[in-house]
Amino acid sequence: MTKPMLQDKLGRPLQDLRISVTDRCNFRCTYCMPKEIFGKDFAFMPKDHLLSFEEIERLARIFVDLGVKKIRLTGGEPLLRRNLPELIQKLVMIDGLEDIGLTTNGVLLGKMAEKLKTAGLTRVNVSLDALDDELFQSINDSGISSKRVLESIEQAQAAGLEVKVNMVVKKGMNDQEVIPMAKYFKEKGITLRYIEFMDVGQSNGWDYSKVVTKKQLFEQLNEDFQLEPVDPAYLGEVAKRYRYKGTNSEVGFITSVSESFCSSCTRARVAADGKFYTCLFASGGFDLKEVIRSGATDEELKDTIIPTWKERGDRYSDERTEETAKNRKKIEMSYIGG
Ligand code: SAM
Ligand code: SF4
Ligand code: SF4
Repeated sequence: MTKPMLQDKLGRPLQDLRISVTDRCNFRCTYCMPKEIFGKDFAFMPKDHLLSFEEIERLARIFVDLGVKKIRLTGGEPLLRRNLPELIQKLVMIDGLEDIGLTTNGVLLGKMAEKLKTAGLTRVNVSLDALDDELFQSINDSGISSKRVLESIEQAQAAGLEVKVNMVVKKGMNDQEVIPMAKYFKEKGITLRYIEFMDVGQSNGWDYSKVVTKKQLFEQLNEDFQLEPVDPAYLGEVAKRYRYKGTNSEVGFITSVSESFCSSCTRARVAADGKFYTCLFASGGFDLKEVIRSGATDEELKDTIIPTWKERGDRYSDERTEETAKNRKKIEMSYIGG
């Protein structure tokens, strides 16, 4: 007998899960973890607050049982979590889980690519906001060159991982890199996705005037390339996809600000400390770690997840106003994982 599908108040099924495995990062991207706030004295999560791999695996199984088909590991920088391939090895064994992805800044990817692939990972999204080295270093604020990330991408491909690249575009920060990035990755046959700068968290100084919309990006690209739309591959696909005419190379846009996609948002998030969030822009989450560590059974855990999802009415991006963007308390991106 097929199980009834778990749906939220707006009829959206629970299908995707993003798991943040650490709130730490080896970058200080100015739009995500600005050094002034995430400095030497910043209090990251103590180790015993992090879910263990066993706890993550258990939660993942439960979420898959409730309908999740795809899991993405993120952070902070997920490759900073010690022995991450061991977690991947556990997750790929879960019956019913169709896909596991990883989002990384790429610094440690080159040296870990083989191990990740052997553990069962098949694809990875690498974030890269500029090819120009001086500009890239000014964005990541950590002295890492774009060459290092580009080499990691090549090593990942050589290890057999499918790679996509994500670029956050912020006006006045890296808009001059939109076309060079498109040319470079089109040539390599790697999908590049432009992400609109979002008002996540409290510390990135977001302002609508800094957003480069999909429409503006598309107009720029149209001057150099001919693009044709590609149909979404599945319900809830967040990127709007296009193909460079006459090629198999694709480019995508994640339009969280200018064309929200809340009506098809099937995504839940679990932070590294086990807090369960039903929206990227949530003000608070439900503490699953406390439930796990109180000795709850799987059924008891399900009894906390199911009503939380059923009660979900989030549509932050649909409803975004200047007021909510500026004043609503929101979770930091490096904590919730994007
Ligand atoms: N550290 C990893 C990385 O950078 O790929 C994973 C975590 S990071 C929070 C996930 C994604 O969120 C990255 O592609 C990053 O560029 C993006 N991101 C961070 N802050 C953002 C913001 N304010 N608006 C849009 N995207 C953002
Ligand atoms: Fe940059 Fe990702 Fe680290 Fe944020 S979490 S500072 S986006 S590398
Ligand atoms: Fe989903 Fe919230 Fe983003 Fe809307 S704003 S798409 S509900 S995560």
